[in-house]
Amino acid sequence: MGDTGDWKVVKNWIKMESRETLICVAVSAAALILSIAHIRTVLPFDPAWIAVVLCGVPILAGAGEGLFVRHDIKADVLVSIALVAALVTGQYFAAGEVALIMQIGSLLEDFTADRARKGLEKLIGMTPGLAHLQKGKGEWDDLPLDQIHPGDRIYILPGEMVPLDGEILEGSAVLDQSMMTGESLPVDKSVGDSVFSGCISRSRSFLMEVRKGNEDSSMQRLIRLTREAEEKKAPVVTLADRWASWLVLFALLCALAAWALTGVFLRAVTVLVVFCPCAFILATPTAVLAGIANGAGKGILIRSGASLQKLSGIRCVAFDKTGTLTGGEPEVGRVVCLDPSFSEEKILHLAARLERYSDHPLARAIVKAADLSGVDECSVQVFPGEGIAGQTDGRELLVGKAAFLENRGVHFSSNDLPEERGTVVCVAFDRKLIGVICLCDRIRPEASTVIRELKEMEIPALLLSGDNAGTVRTIADEAGIDSWKAGLMPEDKNRVIQERQEAGVKVCMVGDGINDALALAGADAGIAMGGIGSDVAVETADAVLVEDDISKIPYLFRLTRKVMSKIKMNLTAAMVINITAVVLSIAGILNPVTGALWHNCGSVFVIVNAATLLAYRDQKGKNQGPV
Ligand code: ADP
Ligand code: MG
Repeated sequence: MGDTGDWKVVKNWIKMESRETLICVAVSAAALILSIAHIRTVLPFDPAWIAVVLCGVPILAGAGEGLFVRHDIKADVLVSIALVAALVTGQYFAAGEVALIMQIGSLLEDFTADRARKGLEKLIGMTPGLAHLQKGKGEWDDLPLDQIHPGDRIYILPGEMVPLDGEILEGSAVLDQSMMTGESLPVDKSVGDSVFSGCISRSRSFLMEVRKGNEDSSMQRLIRLTREAEEKKAPVVTLADRWASWLVLFALLCALAAWALTGVFLRAVTVLVVFCPCAFILATPTAVLAGIANGAGKGILIRSGASLQKLSGIRCVAFDKTGTLTGGEPEVGRVVCLDPSFSEEKILHLAARLERYSDHPLARAIVKAADLSGVDECSVQVFPGEGIAGQTDGRELLVGKAAFLENRGVHFSSNDLPEERGTVVCVAFDRKLIGVICLCDRIRPEASTVIRELKEMEIPALLLSGDNAGTVRTIADEAGIDSWKAGLMPEDKNRVIQERQEAGVKVCMVGDGINDALALAGADAGIAMGGIGSDVAVETADAVLVEDDISKIPYLFRLTRKVMSKIKMNLTAAMVINITAVVLSIAGILNPVTGALWHNCGSVFVIVNAATLLAYRDQKGKNQGPV
């Protein structure tokens, strides 16, 4: 195994794909049954050896690598010691059994392992590795991103992802920023505008000047943030590993003591075998797997064990308004003309010309209400959480909230706006307010029940919206939410959440990802709407409500808490069973084979106990109809 090629084979074996591990586990289990039942086989050796080799060797190799290469002690070190001790004393069944249960544990962990990790891999896979560095007019060299420096000029071709942050020098671009902002409307950019890495160019090629190195680019930052979040693994998940060094030390001491006191080496071996934390290792992944399966059956996708744990600790839920607390299918109520030279239809028509490029629920409602047949394409620029700007027939058109128009030089007094209970979208033509489109967006009928249930669980709700204060207050009142904030920009939503977090409260954000992707990512846990939610939101959230049914949220919290308490119960039971086993081993009541079987009981208990989670039903909320 001298050369690296062989080492790689071994390494791949250690990191076997789940399917292959599954086959090994099945074969090993069969071999162990043959061994314990003393069934004669044609094999010239004890069939338990099959389990030792298939399941044990990867554990030994993994423990060895951890110990000598990474210098950390994990639970597999103890298992390896027990394994070797059992083999040395000829206890092949005990050795094979311990190895098998450990492999089942890692198999289960693989199953529950993060899809988020796959999301991250996808993200990294999408980032371009090369940039087209300008050599002459229209000519370039392809260079790795690390060799591109601020001040360099690079070309972006149609359909490519912008690899680095910078500014447009020549040409113009239509960029899809959905990776970064969650707003899937392509944005128009021209000379002098800044562009961010991670955007996808949907138009002609353009030349840009790089402003930041690869390490500092927005895309790399996003990857870093996601990875950091990933690495903060759920503490309970790593419990057995965290205490592994102490466990190893303690197990060795107990084994030595047993040997010294009784003079029987086999007792020391039994102690080592029963000390193996198999039930501990199964305790978490089995419960997590059952919890995730339970959620999936009720239309809730929970991403991972880590997500599950984060959700169980939530103490405050922040809701987005449009699309989350409201149905997300607003309707145009009335159109108010403020300039006699424009008819109601004309105002709606002008607004719809821009809005058809947006995915925002308000935009869709406006487009639905207008007749857009035979209209030309026009260039637009989106301002997430504010509105849209564009050109039509060479004149400037603005559609969005009042503050947005004011910031862009449209002057009007608030008396011009109609007294309206609901969301209003203002339309300005040539810097003059020409009309207002009033939209009614109905609160989801189940919203108030959800908020009340959450309150009963001592999880207060918070409403965060970019809409005007009047509308937000009305919706908050209807839903029974005491604390709300209006007029927020996407980054403000994130800031409000951070303030709560700094006060020590674990906050969960519920949103559709349109103008709240940042808050979803910044909160301790994120719940995304699966139906109307943007792709990024769904990709990165901890839980996804498949049918946008927010009435599942209280259940989700109850389920995750239940899973966590099951995990604690499992860990306690595992500990009690292990300690009894150690005492019985020292006393000589258990030998390595009966010890291994006893030890097996612990694992079976943990699995069965976790499986009861599959049948967990919601007792609460059943008889509570919408108010
Ligand atoms: P919420 O926080 O309620 O989900 P957003 O942050 O998505 O709302 O948007 C806040 C406000 O910005 C909206 O109420 C609307 O007035 C304005 N706005 C955002 N996007 C658009 C758009 N595409 N067209 C018109 N107005 C918009
Ligand atoms: Mg929204």
